[in-house]
Amino acid sequence: MKKKLLSIALIAVMAATMLCACGKKESAGMTINDGVLTMATNAYFPPYEYYQGEDIVGIDADIAKAVADKLGLELKIEDMEFDSIITAVQTGKADMGLAGMTVSDERKESVNFSDTYATGVQVVIVPEDSDIASVDDLAGKKIGVQLSTTGDIYASDDYGEDNVEKYNKGADAVMALTQGKVDAVIIDNEPAKNFVAANEGLKILDTEYVTEDYAACINKENTELLDAVNGALAELKEDGTLQKIIDQYITAE
Ligand code: GLN
Repeated sequence: MKKKLLSIALIAVMAATMLCACGKKESAGMTINDGVLTMATNAYFPPYEYYQGEDIVGIDADIAKAVADKLGLELKIEDMEFDSIITAVQTGKADMGLAGMTVSDERKESVNFSDTYATGVQVVIVPEDSDIASVDDLAGKKIGVQLSTTGDIYASDDYGEDNVEKYNKGADAVMALTQGKVDAVIIDNEPAKNFVAANEGLKILDTEYVTEDYAACINKENTELLDAVNGALAELKEDGTLQKIIDQYITAE
């Protein structure tokens, strides 16, 4: 009797183990769920990611799709606050984050970064009639930023937390600028150009604040995925796809 119970228990454990094994499929040596590559992003960051109807499109979305295609995986994009992306990658809610995300030493403590695929520049947006002419004039002014972005981190360091207003979306910071709630917004250059084009009476200062590298962030444990993504990115760079995608969204001045 005891033996029979034991073997039933054993079968149950085996069945459970097999079920788990089905969920996690090893595609090309990577630990990925059911052949779906899940990308975390914040889809209010044109031209890198933004909504076109129901779809999330943009440079990051297209690059991620090209990477997924190379790896034989289906791409799924999860939209969330920028501030949640690293946690989503750390907890396995997403396989990778692509969000015009800057490589930084602090973030490297939480996630791995792929090879860089684009360059970003932190710029300053001000009203056209502003007395702020360069980054040197920002001291003592109210600066709007997107929460937890490098713009937030640098501005808080350089000008003090008290002078920095943090918004969940870059567009919200720009809205606050048009309403006179802040004197300037520090944000990445390409979204800045989009926001200035979409709003009357704003301009971007000529003086650039900080230049940085964009890359995909990936869970520290999943080094197989990191290698696979880097391999795919290298091929996409080599065959010109990467540049083609960027050129499609950014017109050279
Ligand atoms: N490049 C900036 C950063 O990584 C902003 C990215 C974003 O707002 N999506 O912090």
